[in-house]
Amino acid sequence: MTDKHSNSDDAHQERDDQLVFQNPVDRYPTIEPPVQDQPEPGLDAELEPQTDRGEFSYRGTGRLEGRKALITGADSGIGAAVAIAFAKEGADVALNYLPAEEEDAQWVKGVIQDAGRTAVLLPGDLMDREFCEKLPDDAARELGGLDILVNNAGKQIAVESLEELSDEQVVETFTVNIIAMFRITRAALTHMPAGSSIINTTSVQAYNPSPTLLDYASTKAAINNFTKGLAQQLAPKGIRVNAVAPGPFWTPLQVTDGQPKEDLPEFGKQTPIGRAGQPTELAPAYVFLASPESSYVMGETLNVNGGSPTP
Ligand code: NAD
Ligand code: MG
Repeated sequence: MTDKHSNSDDAHQERDDQLVFQNPVDRYPTIEPPVQDQPEPGLDAELEPQTDRGEFSYRGTGRLEGRKALITGADSGIGAAVAIAFAKEGADVALNYLPAEEEDAQWVKGVIQDAGRTAVLLPGDLMDREFCEKLPDDAARELGGLDILVNNAGKQIAVESLEELSDEQVVETFTVNIIAMFRITRAALTHMPAGSSIINTTSVQAYNPSPTLLDYASTKAAINNFTKGLAQQLAPKGIRVNAVAPGPFWTPLQVTDGQPKEDLPEFGKQTPIGRAGQPTELAPAYVFLASPESSYVMGETLNVNGGSPTP
């Protein structure tokens, strides 16, 4: 991917880390992504411009020393940035993704290993109920335990009208985004000791649904609700459940029909900060919620969205 560094819009290059005092408005360039298309699931390796997933720019401070994390959708975009940050904070990480995303997963594995941590690759389809139920067992066995679960995988396909939205798409979006979350979390609980943390990726779409994302946005509202209910159930056991709600982040999800194509060049510009987020700008929110320092934070949705008002 380094061959693409000549493009000045590319955020994937050496720059100040996240702890250096800087102006958030111009920490990254305002991107104008060309209209582009990838088949589902998209690849970071093919995304233009390239994103910052923290390879150079995330600095660890020892906040997840010795922790063991399972992250779904960890090959690319937000999940990749979270996996890299967790490793730099001292955690070993199991990465789930689709088999077609092996190239991206191998890249993340390399960054984790360069940080001196272990990366376990667990490809498989979250549409498959048995796979979801087995995934936490495999992660716990390979990592020697499990104390962080990040439910981050997601499917987002924009469709103009309800009449054009197929029953098949509705079922798939709900299965990957929320039903798999029930299955994986239930299976993970058998491994997670007190002190563990569960973090679900929701979206600003949970409160502010785009008219073209009816199925997707409904699952994100459900994820917020699931998070707040489960947090109460698990609080007495010392397991904290929280969510992170991203605004517009430049990731492969957007070019696999996540947005209407003509909207891509303007992606993220409507936010108060005026630009799309880079995946690594989300990582500190997940690190905070995973780390013991957030011991009294439960059932919270942490919005990371460039300034859009939320309820
Ligand atoms: P991404 O494409 O990089 O990640 C999504 C991942 O979901 C894929 O890498 C893939 O591994 C996984 N996935 C999809 N279908 C799957 C299946 N059937 N089985 C297993 N894995 C599957 O895009 P991203 O933007 O980093 O998305 C990560 C999460 O962030 C998603 O839940 C998405 O809804 C959420 N989100 C993204 C944005 C944004 O602007 N990018 C905004 C709000 C929320
Ligand atoms: Mg991917």
